[in-house]
Amino acid sequence: MGIAATDRAKGMHSQFSHLLIGACMSMLLAHATAQGFDFFYFVLQWPGSYCDTSSSCCYPTTGKPASDFSIHGLWPNYNNGGYPSSCDPNNPFDVSQVSDIESQLQTSWDSLACPSSDGTSFWTHEWDKHGTCAESLFSQHAYFQSALNLRSSVNPLGGLSAAGINPDGGAYSLTAIQNALTSSLGHTPGVQCSSDASGNNQLYQLYICVATDASTLIDCPVFPTSGCSSTVLFPSF
Ligand code: 5GP
Ligand code: 5GP
Repeated sequence: MGIAATDRAKGMHSQFSHLLIGACMSMLLAHATAQGFDFFYFVLQWPGSYCDTSSSCCYPTTGKPASDFSIHGLWPNYNNGGYPSSCDPNNPFDVSQVSDIESQLQTSWDSLACPSSDGTSFWTHEWDKHGTCAESLFSQHAYFQSALNLRSSVNPLGGLSAAGINPDGGAYSLTAIQNALTSSLGHTPGVQCSSDASGNNQLYQLYICVATDASTLIDCPVFPTSGCSSTVLFPSF
């Protein structure tokens, strides 16, 4: 074989290797994303801030919730910040699937929207919009149970309180809040603020990042838009 032919053969070999590597990588990637998302945001809301917005709130039919963070949702997300939603209209929420954990859901995943409700419409929305996008991994029961387990495994209010940050209507530095939460959770959560009826910046939601097993906390691959100023109010509830 002449030099040119050898080079051509080497070139073809190298092209083939690249193709092979490319094909292997796509297969690995396809495997890694077979469930259709990369991680979960476990989103907690501070009831005092939800109720202080101009649209106000209505206590659940079961009564005033505890003064603690409650569950907003467990949301499949992509590493690039995007997310799938409403993935399966043929798998609607069925409250009978969670009847054994319904009272725990009423306590930890209560709805503050008006009119007052027992939470069923909130869970329906969350399952239909977010839960169905994880249905290849979690049944309705497993999805809601995972969220309850996660809620029991974290104590953000305790972490904040240990740093002297309490829901007393006071103003706190965002950095102090983030540091306290990072020490308590072992990972930095996304912190989101809302505005009260007078336009004050208030601590509203925590986005805790969780692996696709819905139980292992991870470093956030991407953070949500924060909307927090350098100083935020922590309203009482
Ligand atoms: P907002 O626009 O009020 O932040 O969010 C409205 C709704 O969009 C949320 O309640 C949630 O259902 C969805 N959403 C907003 N941001 C995200 C996100 O970063 N990831 C996911 N998975 N859903 C989101
Ligand atoms: P997301 O923002 O997750 O798409 O949807 C929130 C939806 O659930 C809205 O339609 C909202 O009215 C309803 N919802 C019911 N209860 C609550 C609650 O306690 N907090 C929040 N953030 N939304 C609630």
